[in-house]
Amino acid sequence: MSTHSRRRKISEKQSEESSDDENYVPYIPIKQRKKAQLQNVELRLGRAAALIKEEEEAIKQSTSEGSEASDREDGEDSEEDEEEEETQGVGERSHISLLDQHSELKKKAEAKKETAREKLLKEEERILESVAEKTALMGVAELAKGIQYQEAIKTGWLPPRCIRELSEARHARLRKKMHILVEGHDLPPPIANFKEMKFPKAILNGLKKKGITKPTPIQIQGIPAVLLGRDMIGIAFTGSGKTLVFTLPIIMFSLEQEKRLPFIKGEGPYGLIICPSRELARQTHEIIQYYSQCLADDGFPMLRCGLCIGGVSVKEQLEVIKAGIHILVATTGRLMDMLNKKMITLDVCRYLAMDEADRMIDMGFEEDVRTIFSYFKSQRQTLLFSATMPKKIQNFARSALVKPVTVNVGRAGAASLDVIQEVEYVKQEAKMMYLLECLQKTAPPVLIFAEKKQDVDAIHEYLLLKGVEAVAVHGGKDQEERTRSIDQFKHAKKDVLVATDVASKGLDFPDIQHVINYDMPEDIENYVHRIGRTGRCGKTGIATTFINKTVEESILLDLKHLLIEAKQNCPPFLAGMTSESEKYLDIGGEIGCSYCGGLGHRISDCPKLEALQTKQAQNIGRRDYLANNSADW
Ligand code: AMP
Repeated sequence: MSTHSRRRKISEKQSEESSDDENYVPYIPIKQRKKAQLQNVELRLGRAAALIKEEEEAIKQSTSEGSEASDREDGEDSEEDEEEEETQGVGERSHISLLDQHSELKKKAEAKKETAREKLLKEEERILESVAEKTALMGVAELAKGIQYQEAIKTGWLPPRCIRELSEARHARLRKKMHILVEGHDLPPPIANFKEMKFPKAILNGLKKKGITKPTPIQIQGIPAVLLGRDMIGIAFTGSGKTLVFTLPIIMFSLEQEKRLPFIKGEGPYGLIICPSRELARQTHEIIQYYSQCLADDGFPMLRCGLCIGGVSVKEQLEVIKAGIHILVATTGRLMDMLNKKMITLDVCRYLAMDEADRMIDMGFEEDVRTIFSYFKSQRQTLLFSATMPKKIQNFARSALVKPVTVNVGRAGAASLDVIQEVEYVKQEAKMMYLLECLQKTAPPVLIFAEKKQDVDAIHEYLLLKGVEAVAVHGGKDQEERTRSIDQFKHAKKDVLVATDVASKGLDFPDIQHVINYDMPEDIENYVHRIGRTGRCGKTGIATTFINKTVEESILLDLKHLLIEAKQNCPPFLAGMTSESEKYLDIGGEIGCSYCGGLGHRISDCPKLEALQTKQAQNIGRRDYLANNSADW
């Protein structure tokens, strides 16, 4: 037998023996078995730790050797660092209890998450920057000459001594109590009653007659800021009393000017208020007329307020303007036209307020705003107000302001908490019929919104056929009919108003019981504006919204999160909706999308931004805001 085969035989024999050995399992008492197991685990852990320590040392050595050649990418470095940290952690495990190890690993996982979150936030900032307007929101002449104002305009108003003597801590407490968030330099003090704002008795009585006795939060902080001459961004939910924040101060400033030097023919306006719709302009004009009359009745000079909106004869408007006006309320289309034709000048205008400003600046409309700005001959006080103000617009708007104060009551774009929001799944073909049933939910007045003019007409016709006292308003109707319909509805002569979004912004209808969204608007901001027509000034209202398969998923997600935020009932079909992007919603920074303000997605998934970019890529040009929306509708 060769040595070779002999060796094989021996090894075969040995392996047979050993397999026999393995098959033999002697009895070991359970206590002993457990002890042996425990020792085994400890041994393994110890060995693992030793192995890892060895590896760790090897890594350390190699990194110190290669430190001169460490021109690697930052990302790689940090990844290795992380790995190193991890191995260190495991190495220490043999000495640390399992509980401590667990909490340590958890901390590390959280730190990792933190960096992922930071990366995402940075990425979002980059997106926001890339879509930001490169040119400041200033007049052409100011831009060309590089004029930049450093200080806010000075006014003759000062807070009363009793307020000035209060500590900053007390102001902070009041703001906290009233849920007022305020940002900016040298913050003006909040003032919790109209008397201390130093309004004349005539105004205080006028307010009282309207049932207004105590200022609302936006007024508490906003009015002192405006009276002090500060530029301001005011963000407050619809129906929160924003209008008085910019109308009362301009009335006071105009009065001061008139007393100093009466306005002569052709002079003025001293203050300009721009609104996104004719109806809102008309309403604001009425408010100014009311308080001016209150003053005149008490022996003050009568202030003249002009109205410059489309659909009304220019001749009539010109007559008022020619007499010399203190204040002008306007929509942009007609205003630009009259400025262009030199029928109006802004030579002595020192005060500019834009209501529902984000809607006007949004989507390429800023060129018109710039054009209007360029007619100003010197520094002005600028105020921008809205219920919805996405960060993109806030940033851009700031370029028009000097040391602005931002007053925020509730999240920008949040829905009023006084509205009970109900969302119902209604099939497209069943909507009209269901509308009648829905009208039974409350007593009139009821507002019905639809996106398309044809739908407004169809609903109006259907309701009339069914004997409902309804009127309708949309951009296709002539001005006279629109004004008549709004008046009839406002004065409770009609029960239902059917309208496009044109009636959704800023219009103040008293005591609307119910807002019905016949369809879901494409922008969540428009939804907020629509439902804000009810639940005004502390009263509760209902908003019913019809949705079905035709509604885009992203807007439904925005709606879902808006309902959750406002602690409303979220129907199961909405609650059950999820998307990839929802995972990132609470990563910090701005809540939801910083571009459009939607809560159901982040800027990286914004459908509005995507649509805009596609449009830009196709070079279609800027949207005809006037035709689509309501700047001068
Ligand atoms: P606005 O948000 O400015 O459109 O105001 C909505 C409604 O609230 C209007 O009917 C105002 O007359 C009313 N209002 C404004 N300020 C107050 C206040 N301080 N107290 C009670 N009602 C107010």
